Amino acid sequence: MTANTDAYAELMAFQHETEALGQIAGRLGWDQETMMPAGATPQRAEEHAAIANVLHARQTDPRVGEWLDRAVAADAVAAANLRHIRRSYDRTMKVPARLAAELARTTSLAHRVWAQARADEDVAAFLPMLDKVVTLRREEAACLAGDGDLYDALHDDYEPGNKSADLVTMFAALRPRLVALRTAILARHQPAPLRGTFDEAGQLKLSRLLAQTFGYDMDKGRIDKAVHPFSSGSGLDVRITTRTSPTDPFNCFYSTIHEVGHACYEQGIDADYLLTPLGNGVSMGVHESQSRIYENQLGRSRAFTGWLYGQMRDTFGDIGVTSEEAFHAAVNRVHNGYIRTEADEVQYNLHVLLRFDLERALVTGDLAVADLEAAWNDRFLADFGFAVDKPSNGILQDVHWSEGLFGYFPTYTLGNVYAGCLHAAMRAALPDLDDDLSRGDLARATGWLRKNLQRHGGLREPRATIIHATGAEPSEGPLLDYLEAKFGAIYGL
Ligand code: ZN
Repeated sequence: MTANTDAYAELMAFQHETEALGQIAGRLGWDQETMMPAGATPQRAEEHAAIANVLHARQTDPRVGEWLDRAVAADAVAAANLRHIRRSYDRTMKVPARLAAELARTTSLAHRVWAQARADEDVAAFLPMLDKVVTLRREEAACLAGDGDLYDALHDDYEPGNKSADLVTMFAALRPRLVALRTAILARHQPAPLRGTFDEAGQLKLSRLLAQTFGYDMDKGRIDKAVHPFSSGSGLDVRITTRTSPTDPFNCFYSTIHEVGHACYEQGIDADYLLTPLGNGVSMGVHESQSRIYENQLGRSRAFTGWLYGQMRDTFGDIGVTSEEAFHAAVNRVHNGYIRTEADEVQYNLHVLLRFDLERALVTGDLAVADLEAAWNDRFLADFGFAVDKPSNGILQDVHWSEGLFGYFPTYTLGNVYAGCLHAAMRAALPDLDDDLSRGDLARATGWLRKNLQRHGGLREPRATIIHATGAEPSEGPLLDYLEAKFGAIYGL
């Protein structure tokens, strides 16, 4: 064995332990949202800080830099591992410790100020904190970007290699067709919603059946309740949460299917990559493509909702909807609303595009924080056709900016676009897929995703991951075609 392969082996042994500690940190977060007694909050903050310090010390350990300089990749897997570790190491080293600490302190404070401001409908109370967060993140972006684009430097954290210039082109193609589609739909007669109340035990039972139907391995996962559904973990321990609402069982079912999409991605990664940099979903956008294709293209399809309709009637009896067609329309109901997380498939991306343009302008310096609320309200009126009524329905609705997560929002729409591409490729490969879906059989659909995308984990860059799975450059075309065809049929456009 040469010195160079020793360096790789030593680096990977060290990294293995770092990945394991990262999983432990994640499980602390899961516990906090599901099981932790309320009185434990101050101690948990200390525990989080302690493990974060351990992880930071390992990420900046000078030996990592030395190993990276000496290590030689023997194959594509080793090359990908080195690429991930190098990117993370360089990123951490470029940001001065003082700035990283100030960002952590300020975003923690800003999060609390935001929550109070939202409860009080008081934008003025939040803006000075937001201004501090923007200033610090711009400073961080300058450290990372060199001569490059400030926004790209931040976006790269969530979608490595992706450029905002490409997003601008893609989103410019999406926006007019989405606005036209929503306008046409909302001029039509609205389908009837579900009627009645739906007991929690029935919702959770069906939610569990849905999770297993979509391929979630309950032997290496579990489902609990949380206020905001999420998935957590990778490899052999991937957990999801859901929530119930007595009058809106779709909230429970589609939250579950969404998180199952994230979880199946993590569970589907090649076991050889366990606790290595390749053992996680490759980016936020590719991750979201999995949750979205499970939730929307598959879970809200005419064929699958036909099966779900039967399951719901078996579980709850009369649900106030009398045909599979009417049930499909109810599942896919398009309605006016202010809130991104409650938006339907047609309007969801318009919420994201608004945030992308505004946050990019904040980061590049083209928009001042003081002008943000007016800019938000103007854009909302232009795209949605009605005015924001209060800040919690507008600028204060999302947690992201208070936490400094600039560059994150576009990954939601990128995920939808990728889901559109994957769905088109899957349908071409499995032309009779609807026969399966109408029986509640997802085995071939999830098998296709596992084989072509999920099992590869972080082996390729995000964009190359999609190209490998679909055989084509990603584009917004398949998503738009899918939305126009589906909602055109439901609404008779
Ligand atoms: Zn998601």
